[in-house]
Amino acid sequence: MPITETAPAGTRCLLALGGNLGRSERLFEWAIQRLESQSVRVVSVSRNFETRAVGEQAGGGFLNAAAVVETQDTALQLLELLQSLEADSGRERVIRWGPRTLDLDLLLFGSLVQWQPRLMLPHPALWHRRFVLSSAVEVAGGMLHPLLGQTVEQLWQRLSEPQLSVTVECAEDVANDGRFAGFLSRPLQLGAVQFLRRVAAASEQSDQHVFARVLLRAATAQNPPWSYPLQYPGLRTIELFVQGPEQALEQLRQTATAITG
Ligand code: ADP
Ligand code: MG
Repeated sequence: MPITETAPAGTRCLLALGGNLGRSERLFEWAIQRLESQSVRVVSVSRNFETRAVGEQAGGGFLNAAAVVETQDTALQLLELLQSLEADSGRERVIRWGPRTLDLDLLLFGSLVQWQPRLMLPHPALWHRRFVLSSAVEVAGGMLHPLLGQTVEQLWQRLSEPQLSVTVECAEDVANDGRFAGFLSRPLQLGAVQFLRRVAAASEQSDQHVFARVLLRAATAQNPPWSYPLQYPGLRTIELFVQGPEQALEQLRQTATAITG
């Protein structure tokens, strides 16, 4: 019988740190220190990456980083810890620095798959966001996305293809909305991303050559614009909730920016 027992390492997790450029650097260091002082073992932290803001209201450039941590906590406990750090930094910021500057997301929690609005795992946007994968690949290239069956490194490499095709389909509610009649009547090229309109929904199986499939849905009270989907939309489907064609176009722009960085 061993006299001392080594505690099991716990679950290996991948975290994303994000925030507005500048003061975020100090906040990232502060957050990592706070994690270490809690029930979390910090395995590695990436460099900080300056990235383009996605969306008109996002402000200036962003800073992004990733960290691999191990914890014995449950996924929900870890999320609560991350949110308490966001809140604590927010309270400081109200006094010292102004607007919200720290976003802590849980990208992977071991191989756990769950789809609840409170906590979706793997993080639904991990696989198509360059600003997330560029730092994640530095510390977690070998970690596996449990739904896609690809490593973070493979997901990262996919983003670097010179031309990325994304099909755009309209859910029934959008297809029946006359305002969308002329929308995307021709292919739309935004940077390296080509959006191809699909009249009839295709299965993901037949979409294997495309980078992603965008599904446009009408925004509702349950799923307002910009929200995460309530149902799991499919492996490589990005569900966008829109109020009209202008907003749909803006969301496609943001999607292209997120993909190409
Ligand atoms: P975002 O990170 O999308 O910019 P927020 O940080 O405000 O937005 O998070 C919005 C909500 O997303 C949170 O209330 C949280 O409960 C939920 N959420 C669902 N899945 C995750 C996840 N994997 N990591 C972090 N938050 C998540
Ligand atoms: Mg967040």
